[in-house]
Amino acid sequence: MNQLCQLADEHGATAIITVRVSIGRLSGIVADSFSFGFETLAGENSLTKKAALEITLTEPVQRCLDCRLVADFSTKTCPRCDSTRLSPEGGDELVLTQVEME
Ligand SMILES: [Zn+2]
Repeated sequence: MNQLCQLADEHGATAIITVRVSIGRLSGIVADSFSFGFETLAGENSLTKKAALEITLTEPVQRCLDCRLVADFSTKTCPRCDSTRLSPEGGDELVLTQVEME
C-alpha cells in the first residue's frame, strides 16, 4: 500500500484504478485474505478507494542445474537430460505487476 501511494505520487495521479499483483502459491499468502486486507486498507485512502485488485496465482517451477531447462514442479528428473539436480524456482513471490492510475 505504501508502495502504491508512492507510485501515484511520483506520477501525479489522483486515483489508482487497477492493481495487479502476482502471488506465488508457495508464498504462504492466502489470496482471499490478501484481497480482504487490500480492500480494508484501500478504503481508508482517497487515492486507492476505487482501486480494483486483480490477483494472479503463480505456480512454482524447477530449473535443471545441468541444462537450465525449466520443468514442471512435480517432476523429479529433468525431461531433457534426466538430471536429478533440479532447483525450485519462484512460487514464493509477491509482486506488484501492474498499476493503472488516472
Ligand atoms: Zn536438464
